[in-house]
Parts: sequence; structure tokens; C-alpha cells
Amino acid sequence: MAPDTSPRQLVLLEAEATGRQVPARDVVLEKAASLAQLLSRELGLPVRLSVTDNRSTMVSFRRAPAALRLRLHHMFLDAPAPVVRAVADYAGRGHRRAGRLLDEFVRREQPRIRQHRDARDEVLSAQGRTYDLREIFEDLNDRHFQSGVRATIGWGRSPARRRRKSIRLGVYDHQTREIRLHPALDQPAVPRFFVEFIVFHEMLHQVFPSAHGPSRRMHHPRAFRDREKAFPLYAAALQWERENLGVLLAR
Ligand SMILES: [Zn+2]
Repeated sequence: MAPDTSPRQLVLLEAEATGRQVPARDVVLEKAASLAQLLSRELGLPVRLSVTDNRSTMVSFRRAPAALRLRLHHMFLDAPAPVVRAVADYAGRGHRRAGRLLDEFVRREQPRIRQHRDARDEVLSAQGRTYDLREIFEDLNDRHFQSGVRATIGWGRSPARRRRKSIRLGVYDHQTREIRLHPALDQPAVPRFFVEFIVFHEMLHQVFPSAHGPSRRMHHPRAFRDREKAFPLYAAALQWERENLGVLLAR
């Protein structure tokens, strides 16, 4: 089977409900661990599960050759066995029909969906129109940093429209451990590997803090640059940036 790299999503319209319950963190962790185990036994491959409190995307996943990366709303932590099997069928085996059972379940559990944007949404939203930065971050963290980078990540606000000569594609804030990406990158015209490259670069800033050089502060010390070149599509990313910066600036 060819690896499926495109994220598929089950999208649900906002619920009109009140009195929802959000489980405590330790309960979530415990239930998530056993759900991941259940799904991975069912599918016969490792399942990396993240639990969300999303308002619109209840299920999203990405199939890699050796593992299934899955993001589920916390309502699924209490799902009955047939629904868990439907998750496995839908996300793990690509059975689209199983999506119907999931839709029904989500409709039933609507009171558990957060209705309003909260402060966290305002500060930093990782889910863009085209790219989910949290998913990209976790994937890179896993593949390149042994999950050692601790940061929040999200799309920056769209700046006021004006002519630009340059654009800052990403920024890392050491103080708050925040990575922010320019919203111009959140469009289908920008290839995923390029977004990954920018996230990768910002993650390196945590690993290699800027150093004092002989005369000035070096934002990208030697070790940083060397490590950056280890990005699998390093050359392609630089080339894409050279050839397409206009697309980004025009936005
Ligand atoms: Zn930098």
C-alpha cells in the first residue's frame, strides 16, 4: 500500500449545546493510552494518538508506512466498542463507509464539543485552512528530535495588506516557547515539505540557542546550520523558496 500522506478530516458543524464535560488531564492520559493500545491491536500497527478539544475537526489522521497518526476529540475516549472499531476501519483501513457511524456518534456527543473560542484559540491556532501545524510539529519532533522539543505552535495573524519586500516566514520565541508561522504559508500552493522545513528551522532555535560570536550575536550558530542541512529536502526547500517567494509576498 502506498503511504498516504494527505490528512483526511471528518468535519462537523458547530454544535448548539451547553453543559459539556471535559475530562481531567490524568483521566485523558490514561484513557488515551488504552484507546491507542486497543486501536493498535485491532490494526496490527503502532497508533500515535493525540486527544483534542477541537471545535470542528473531530477525527483526523495520517497514515505513514509504519504507523497511524491519529487525532481524536476527547469524546472518543468513552466511545463504545463499535465506534472504536469504526475509527480503526475509517482511519486505519480506509473504509469510508465507517465514517457514517462516526458522524452519528459525533452528533450524539455534541454536548461535549466546545462551543466558543477560548483564550487559547485567540493566542495561537495550529489548525489552518490547509495545514495543521501541531500535527506537522509532532511528526517532526518524533522523526528528528526524539520528541525532545517542547513548544506551542500556531499560525500568526494576517498582517495588514501592504506591499512587502520581505517576509518573515517563521519565528521562535525563547521566552514563551512559541513557534509562529506566517499565515501566507497556509495555502495549497505552498508544498507541505516547505512548511515542514520552516517548522523544522524554528524548532532548531530551541535546540541551538543563539551564541555570542566574536563581534555579534549569532542567531544561527554553526551547529544550527549543520543540523539544518540534515533536513531531508533541504536543497529542495531552499530552491522552492527562491523560486516562489513572489507567491508568498503577493498574498
Ligand atoms: Zn532562524
